[in-house]
Amino acid sequence: MTQSLPIPVSRLIDEFQKLPGIGPKTAQRLTFHLLRLPKESAENLSSAIRDIKERIILCSTCFNITEQDPCPICSAADRDLSIICVVEEPLDVQAIERTRAFRGRYHVLHGTISPVDGIGPEDLRIAELLDRLRKEPVKELLLATNPNLEGEATAMYLTRQISPLGIRITGLARGLPVGGDLEYADELTLGRALEGRREL
Ligand code: ZN
Repeated sequence: MTQSLPIPVSRLIDEFQKLPGIGPKTAQRLTFHLLRLPKESAENLSSAIRDIKERIILCSTCFNITEQDPCPICSAADRDLSIICVVEEPLDVQAIERTRAFRGRYHVLHGTISPVDGIGPEDLRIAELLDRLRKEPVKELLLATNPNLEGEATAMYLTRQISPLGIRITGLARGLPVGGDLEYADELTLGRALEGRREL
């Protein structure tokens, strides 16, 4: 269908189609929208894409996305070093930070254990977490994975791995929409879930 189009146009349509949630129709619409835009606007988009690839790295301590290593949260002097909150994705860190209900530090797993998708514990930042727990003065681990099947399974796996270390393990209070993602929970609900956290 795109064969009669100039190659640069069909190439951009193909690239858009590789993005999640973008089908052929949307890919074409976005491409033709960009064709109509002033050159400067299109260049802003392309430089924003280049910038995230060139300037964003993962913090070598917590694996959150950052421009500097260690990230601002890991290097902040006023964070509580005795508690680490484990989350699935960088967006979860943003969601929890917005509540202002948590003053510890984070550990981003970058996914969940999901046998159906072929994702095992070795594909996540779990070894790095265990390493931190041995080196850092952590007294409590707050497991804030999403309240769905994969999130719960991951929390259970972590609990089994970490229990022998003698660290207190807690989870978010119930009350978050089941099956939902932390990043979509409203601040008040998520703040309450953090404050009412329970022993696992
Ligand atoms: Zn960090």
